[in-house]
Amino acid sequence: MTTAKYGEKNMGKNTMYQRQKNERQRTAAGSTAAVAEGTKSAGMQKKPKTKTALCPVAGKCGGCRWIERPYGEQLKAKETGFRKLMEPYCKPEPIIGMKQPTHYRNKVHAAFGEDRRHNAISGIYEEKSHRIVPVDSCLIENKKADEIIVSVRGLLKSFKIRPYSEDTGYGLLRHVLIRTGHVTGQIMVVLVLGSPIMPSKNNFVKALLKLHPEITTIVINVNDRNTSMVLGDREQVIYGKGYIEDELCGKIFRISPKSFYQVNPVQTEKLYGKAMEYAGLTGSEVVVDAYCGTGTIGIIAAEKAGKVIGVELNPDAVRDAKSNAKRNEVNNIEFYQNDAGKFLVEMAQQKAKVDVVLMDPPRSGSSEEFLNSVAQLAPKRVVYISCNPETLVRDIKYLTKRGYTVQKGVAVDMFPFTDSCEAVVWMKRTER
Ligand code: SAH
Repeated sequence: MTTAKYGEKNMGKNTMYQRQKNERQRTAAGSTAAVAEGTKSAGMQKKPKTKTALCPVAGKCGGCRWIERPYGEQLKAKETGFRKLMEPYCKPEPIIGMKQPTHYRNKVHAAFGEDRRHNAISGIYEEKSHRIVPVDSCLIENKKADEIIVSVRGLLKSFKIRPYSEDTGYGLLRHVLIRTGHVTGQIMVVLVLGSPIMPSKNNFVKALLKLHPEITTIVINVNDRNTSMVLGDREQVIYGKGYIEDELCGKIFRISPKSFYQVNPVQTEKLYGKAMEYAGLTGSEVVVDAYCGTGTIGIIAAEKAGKVIGVELNPDAVRDAKSNAKRNEVNNIEFYQNDAGKFLVEMAQQKAKVDVVLMDPPRSGSSEEFLNSVAQLAPKRVVYISCNPETLVRDIKYLTKRGYTVQKGVAVDMFPFTDSCEAVVWMKRTER
């Protein structure tokens, strides 16, 4: 676990960049023009266009699997799928979609390489290969981030910086990663290099800032290993603070190059809003935030709770969670680095008092150990956030046999144009 410490939630641990390789959520220049933007949601156009008319690299990318489907239809499909899975338990609320379902990704990655004439290219890896497909803009990525990547590429020649070649080991620049703060507008540029020395880096920084004064920090990340991971271990901040901050539900969160942070901030607020509604906190409850990542949900919940206990396996995430709590002056929260199942078993053995369990496990869902301990601890409410409705339903089945009934549930579209579906469910203790 040396690189890309924790990835996007629905891909589990350490796979953020593998996912970017596998899902290639990028489309090529001009593709966005084919999808109406503005008041009418993108993708609502009547005549569906072919995949490649919407995006020239759609066939090679595999990111926007649903690119041809009008957005309204995508929402219907996700809603119906979720309703069917939930049929034995409850009738879900209407799916929460996006008004503008494009350019939502706040984290954008581009691989760098050279074409046959040794011109720098940047884009995505073709599916199941390390061949770079040139891409300048994408339907679902932050537009500014895409522009900055193109600018970095444009500067390389005058600075005599060559993209790194995986075959020969020559060259310097391997990847560029951009992370943006949706509310704060802060922008981080991470230049992933094959070796630590970047010639005329100060002038490079100056030139890039001249083109994009909105960039707030630039970091060099050194990855000198032959690996499919994007980020290496060593980092050097060459401009700004080395991290950005963003706001979610009124709280501020620090995002470092490797931090986990939901990629669709607009929908994350809606998701967490629903989770809070379902948690029904009144100010006195003891709340467990299990699989808490960098503590976002727990920190948001803390305001309306007596005490929050966060548990998370990844030590770096726990470190970030602690610093996020401090940053927001939240004092009624504690974070523990542990397996959520083991931790809950201990809590159950100690007969701890827990009123509400908020849980947000990875795609694989929770464990029997965890669910069994939940049943023993018998919190009044369990709020389950899930990025995989299949494992959600499996775990619901378990809990409904152990004294819980589903009260409400809703799907939230966190990943428009893909087939991924996020959901949140509220379960209530009915018997002891
Ligand atoms: N709730 C957070 C993070 C959810 S992602 C948010 O919304 O931002 C799921 C998290 O579960 C990841 O941070 C992952 O590291 C963590 N995780 C995976 N397996 C775990 C386990 N067995 N015990 C505790 N945490 C685990």
